[in-house]
Amino acid sequence: MSFLLEPKYMAKVEVKKAREFGLCFGVRRAIKIIDKAAKEHQEIATLGPIVHNRLVVAKLADSGVKVVNDLGQVQGRVIAITSHGAPPQLLSQIQARKLQVIDTTCPTVRSAQKAAQKLALSGFRVIIFGEATHPEVKGLLGWAGNNAIATLNVDEVAKLELPRRFGIISQTTQSNAKFVEFIDEVIRAVFPDVQELRIINTLCQETRKRQEAALELAGKSDLMIVVGGHNSANTQRLAEVCSPIVETHLIETAAEIKGDWLLGKQYIGVTAGASTPDEAIEEVVLTLKSLASGD
Ligand code: SF4
Repeated sequence: MSFLLEPKYMAKVEVKKAREFGLCFGVRRAIKIIDKAAKEHQEIATLGPIVHNRLVVAKLADSGVKVVNDLGQVQGRVIAITSHGAPPQLLSQIQARKLQVIDTTCPTVRSAQKAAQKLALSGFRVIIFGEATHPEVKGLLGWAGNNAIATLNVDEVAKLELPRRFGIISQTTQSNAKFVEFIDEVIRAVFPDVQELRIINTLCQETRKRQEAALELAGKSDLMIVVGGHNSANTQRLAEVCSPIVETHLIETAAEIKGDWLLGKQYIGVTAGASTPDEAIEEVVLTLKSLASGD
């Protein structure tokens, strides 16, 4: 980390945290469940990281919680479903192997899965506004029936053979504004060919509050620092929300801060993704303050 601040900038710098930021109830809940389970079992496998944050995963690994990429790699008898949830096909495979399941699926994600399933069972072709490769979306696709698709691009929808009934849901961590824009574009692309269009708001309110608070703080800042996993969807969204407004950097730890980002900046805003541990955020804030004061 470099300390490049000129003394003339030091006294002016203020570091302010967003009014809503950091660990959400779903991630706190997942960590609590897995922490408790780790005390009862020697080894637990998770299919993918339990939350998208390296620091949290590393801490859990010390308690015997190991990340595996597929069921074939599970050596013990206990498997944990991550906060992002899992498709029903995977749950059946786990059941067939008679593994004990620790389910940390976030209740908000579970609601989105139920919405997808209900649409599919009612005869709607489901469109998920989300990143098709994200674990949560892979799970939603599993619940959404055979013809479901996940996309962020309305052109993909326009290319489909249009069914009579379309249902739209969203990956929980997408932005409110982008979901509304997508719905608007879908309506233009499919009407009047489609008879019925059902939209279910599956956006996570915790994510929405963090995005609104980040946007508000970005408007009052000269620099925004977003703390969280580089692979965390909700953390990436926070950076996307802030970057059109002000210079924004997404970092996972304080070690990634570059002193020259602060040059000429007076107000520095800090926000953090829903899977970012409190210690990581505090370390970033302390480092920024230390850089600002020249300590
Ligand atoms: S960001 Fe929302 S959906 Fe994701 S784990 Fe947290 S509460 Fe659940």
